Amino acid sequence: MKKGKIFVISGPAGVGKGSVLKKLLETRENVFISVSATTRLPRAGEEDGVHYHFLDVDTFHKWIAQDAFLEYAEYVGNFYGTPRRFVDEALEKGQDVILEIDVRGAEQIAQKRPEAVLVFIAPPSWEELERRLVQRGTESPEKIEKRLLRARVECRTASTYHYFVINDTIENAAKELNAIMTAEHCRSMERMEVISGS
Ligand code: 5GP
Repeated sequence: MKKGKIFVISGPAGVGKGSVLKKLLETRENVFISVSATTRLPRAGEEDGVHYHFLDVDTFHKWIAQDAFLEYAEYVGNFYGTPRRFVDEALEKGQDVILEIDVRGAEQIAQKRPEAVLVFIAPPSWEELERRLVQRGTESPEKIEKRLLRARVECRTASTYHYFVINDTIENAAKELNAIMTAEHCRSMERMEVISGS
Protein backbone atom coordinates (compact mmCIF):
# COMPACT_ATOMS: atom_id res chain seq x y z
CA MET A 1 0.00 0.00 0.00
CA LYS A 2 1.14 3.54 -0.76
CA LYS A 3 2.24 5.46 2.32
CA GLY A 4 0.55 8.73 3.22
CA LYS A 5 2.23 12.13 3.20
CA ILE A 6 2.98 14.54 6.02
CA PHE A 7 1.53 18.04 5.71
CA VAL A 8 2.74 20.57 8.25
CA ILE A 9 0.37 23.45 8.91
CA SER A 10 1.71 26.49 10.75
CA GLY A 11 0.51 30.02 11.24
CA PRO A 12 0.13 32.59 13.98
CA ALA A 13 -2.18 31.95 16.92
CA GLY A 14 -5.70 33.12 16.11
CA VAL A 15 -5.30 32.79 12.35
CA GLY A 16 -7.96 30.08 12.26
CA LYS A 17 -5.92 26.94 11.56
CA GLY A 18 -8.38 24.80 13.53
CA SER A 19 -11.41 26.11 11.62
CA VAL A 20 -9.68 25.62 8.27
CA LEU A 21 -8.80 22.02 9.16
CA LYS A 22 -12.35 21.32 10.34
CA LYS A 23 -13.68 22.62 7.01
CA LEU A 24 -11.12 20.56 5.08
CA LEU A 25 -12.31 17.36 6.77
CA GLU A 26 -15.84 17.98 5.46
CA THR A 27 -14.62 17.23 1.95
CA ARG A 28 -11.35 15.35 2.24
CA GLU A 29 -11.02 11.73 3.33
CA ASN A 30 -8.08 9.61 4.38
CA VAL A 31 -6.64 12.34 6.56
CA PHE A 32 -5.30 11.88 10.09
CA ILE A 33 -4.94 15.01 12.20
CA SER A 34 -2.19 14.42 14.73
CA VAL A 35 -3.13 15.15 18.36
CA SER A 36 -0.21 16.92 20.03
CA ALA A 37 0.89 16.70 23.63
CA THR A 38 1.16 19.93 25.61
CA THR A 39 1.90 21.20 29.10
CA ARG A 40 -0.55 24.10 28.59
CA LEU A 41 -3.75 23.93 30.65
CA PRO A 42 -6.92 22.97 28.78
CA ARG A 43 -9.16 25.82 27.60
CA ALA A 44 -12.89 25.63 28.24
CA GLY A 45 -14.32 22.89 26.05
CA GLU A 46 -10.99 21.22 25.29
CA GLU A 47 -10.84 17.48 25.95
CA ASP A 48 -7.84 15.36 26.84
CA GLY A 49 -6.92 13.04 23.96
CA VAL A 50 -9.14 14.96 21.53
CA HIS A 51 -7.69 18.48 21.28
CA TYR A 52 -4.40 17.67 22.99
CA HIS A 53 -2.86 15.11 25.29
CA PHE A 54 -2.55 17.34 28.35
CA LEU A 55 0.60 16.40 30.26
CA ASP A 56 2.41 17.80 33.28
CA VAL A 57 5.98 19.00 32.73
CA ASP A 58 7.53 15.86 34.29
CA THR A 59 5.59 13.53 32.04
CA PHE A 60 6.44 15.67 29.01
CA HIS A 61 10.14 15.31 29.86
CA LYS A 62 9.71 11.55 30.29
CA TRP A 63 8.26 11.37 26.77
CA ILE A 64 11.27 13.36 25.50
CA ALA A 65 13.65 10.92 27.22
CA GLN A 66 11.79 7.98 25.64
CA ASP A 67 12.17 9.60 22.20
CA ALA A 68 8.39 9.53 21.91
CA PHE A 69 8.22 12.86 20.04
CA LEU A 70 8.83 13.38 16.35
CA GLU A 71 9.42 17.04 17.25
CA TYR A 72 8.76 19.30 20.19
CA ALA A 73 9.16 22.98 21.01
CA GLU A 74 8.48 25.51 23.69
CA TYR A 75 5.88 28.09 22.72
CA VAL A 76 5.06 31.12 24.90
CA GLY A 77 5.94 29.35 28.15
CA ASN A 78 4.55 25.87 27.43
CA PHE A 79 5.83 22.72 25.74
CA TYR A 80 4.15 21.20 22.69
CA GLY A 81 5.13 18.00 20.90
CA THR A 82 4.03 15.56 18.21
CA PRO A 83 3.79 11.94 19.42
CA ARG A 84 5.71 9.88 16.86
CA ARG A 85 3.84 6.59 17.06
CA PHE A 86 0.40 7.69 15.84
CA VAL A 87 1.93 9.62 12.95
CA ASP A 88 3.87 6.61 11.67
CA GLU A 89 0.91 4.26 12.14
CA ALA A 90 -1.32 6.55 10.08
CA LEU A 91 1.31 6.96 7.32
CA GLU A 92 1.68 3.16 7.11
CA LYS A 93 -2.09 2.87 6.69
CA GLY A 94 -1.84 5.22 3.70
CA GLN A 95 -3.40 8.20 5.45
CA ASP A 96 -2.16 11.74 4.96
CA VAL A 97 -1.05 13.17 8.28
CA ILE A 98 -1.59 16.80 9.22
CA LEU A 99 0.65 18.29 11.90
CA GLU A 100 -0.61 21.63 13.18
CA ILE A 101 2.60 22.88 14.79
CA ASP A 102 4.67 26.02 15.22
CA VAL A 103 7.56 27.11 12.97
CA ARG A 104 10.28 25.60 15.16
CA GLY A 105 8.50 22.25 15.11
CA ALA A 106 8.19 22.60 11.33
CA GLU A 107 11.95 23.11 11.03
CA GLN A 108 12.56 19.85 12.90
CA ILE A 109 10.11 17.97 10.66
CA ALA A 110 11.77 19.41 7.54
CA GLN A 111 15.10 18.02 8.80
CA LYS A 112 13.84 14.61 9.83
CA ARG A 113 11.25 14.05 7.10
CA PRO A 114 12.39 16.15 4.11
CA GLU A 115 9.52 14.83 2.01
CA ALA A 116 7.01 16.64 4.28
CA VAL A 117 4.99 19.47 2.69
CA LEU A 118 5.02 22.73 4.64
CA VAL A 119 2.02 25.04 4.45
CA PHE A 120 1.83 28.42 6.19
CA ILE A 121 -1.58 29.95 6.92
CA ALA A 122 -1.45 33.73 7.15
CA PRO A 123 -4.05 36.30 8.23
CA PRO A 124 -5.33 38.79 5.63
CA SER A 125 -3.86 41.59 7.83
CA TRP A 126 -2.39 42.27 11.28
CA GLU A 127 -5.49 44.20 12.33
CA GLU A 128 -7.63 41.19 11.48
CA LEU A 129 -5.36 38.83 13.42
CA GLU A 130 -5.52 41.04 16.49
CA ARG A 131 -9.28 41.28 16.18
CA ARG A 132 -9.63 37.48 15.93
CA LEU A 133 -7.36 36.86 18.94
CA VAL A 134 -9.26 39.33 21.11
CA GLN A 135 -12.64 38.04 19.92
CA ARG A 136 -11.67 34.44 20.71
CA GLY A 137 -11.47 35.54 24.33
CA THR A 138 -9.40 32.56 25.51
CA GLU A 139 -6.31 34.50 26.57
CA SER A 140 -5.49 37.39 28.90
CA PRO A 141 -4.43 40.72 27.27
CA GLU A 142 -0.84 39.98 28.33
CA LYS A 143 -0.89 36.53 26.68
CA ILE A 144 -2.46 38.02 23.54
CA GLU A 145 0.37 40.54 23.36
CA LYS A 146 2.95 37.72 23.66
CA ARG A 147 1.20 35.70 20.96
CA LEU A 148 1.10 38.72 18.62
CA LEU A 149 4.82 39.29 19.11
CA ARG A 150 5.45 35.63 18.40
CA ALA A 151 3.19 35.86 15.32
CA ARG A 152 5.45 38.53 13.80
CA VAL A 153 8.49 36.28 14.26
CA GLU A 154 6.61 33.35 12.72
CA CYS A 155 5.47 35.31 9.68
CA ARG A 156 9.08 36.32 8.98
CA THR A 157 10.02 32.63 8.59
CA ALA A 158 7.06 31.87 6.34
CA SER A 159 9.16 32.11 3.16
CA THR A 160 10.80 28.78 4.06
CA TYR A 161 7.42 27.06 3.61
CA HIS A 162 6.39 25.43 0.31
CA TYR A 163 2.93 26.99 0.24
CA PHE A 164 1.26 30.09 1.60
CA VAL A 165 -2.50 30.13 2.22
CA ILE A 166 -4.21 33.39 3.18
CA ASN A 167 -7.18 32.81 5.44
CA ASP A 168 -9.49 35.56 4.20
CA THR A 169 -12.43 33.20 4.52
CA ILE A 170 -12.37 29.69 5.98
CA GLU A 171 -13.98 28.29 2.81
CA ASN A 172 -11.29 29.74 0.51
CA ALA A 173 -8.44 28.68 2.76
CA ALA A 174 -9.82 25.11 3.09
CA LYS A 175 -10.26 24.91 -0.70
CA GLU A 176 -6.67 26.00 -1.26
CA LEU A 177 -5.33 23.54 1.27
CA ASN A 178 -7.36 20.77 -0.35
CA ALA A 179 -5.94 21.75 -3.76
CA ILE A 180 -2.38 21.69 -2.39
CA MET A 181 -2.88 18.19 -0.97
CA THR A 182 -4.35 16.95 -4.23
CA ALA A 183 -1.54 18.52 -6.27
CA GLU A 184 1.09 16.89 -4.06
CA HIS A 185 -0.43 13.49 -4.86
CA CYS A 186 -0.25 14.30 -8.60
CA ARG A 187 3.52 14.84 -8.59
CA SER A 188 5.30 12.82 -11.24
CA MET A 189 7.36 11.01 -8.62
CA GLU A 190 4.13 9.89 -7.00
CA ARG A 191 2.68 8.64 -10.26
CA MET A 192 5.76 6.89 -11.67
CA GLU A 193 4.34 3.45 -10.94
CA VAL A 194 1.32 4.24 -13.11
CA ILE A 195 3.50 5.49 -15.97
CA SER A 196 6.01 2.66 -15.77
CA GLY A 197 3.17 0.15 -15.64
CA SER A 198 1.70 1.35 -18.97
P1 5GP B 1 -2.43 26.78 21.26
O1 5GP B 1 -1.94 26.96 22.66
O2 5GP B 1 -3.05 28.04 20.70
O3 5GP B 1 -3.30 25.56 21.11
O4 5GP B 1 -1.14 26.50 20.34
C1 5GP B 1 -0.06 27.38 20.36
C2 5GP B 1 0.90 27.05 19.24
O5 5GP B 1 1.48 25.77 19.43
C3 5GP B 1 0.27 27.02 17.85
O6 5GP B 1 1.10 27.76 16.96
C4 5GP B 1 0.26 25.57 17.48
O7 5GP B 1 0.39 25.37 16.09
C5 5GP B 1 1.52 25.10 18.20
N1 5GP B 1 1.52 23.65 18.43
C6 5GP B 1 0.47 22.85 18.72
N2 5GP B 1 0.87 21.58 18.82
C7 5GP B 1 2.20 21.56 18.58
C8 5GP B 1 3.20 20.53 18.52
O8 5GP B 1 2.93 19.34 18.69
N3 5GP B 1 4.46 20.91 18.25
C9 5GP B 1 4.82 22.21 18.03
N4 5GP B 1 6.08 22.46 17.73
N5 5GP B 1 3.92 23.20 18.06
C10 5GP B 1 2.62 22.89 18.33
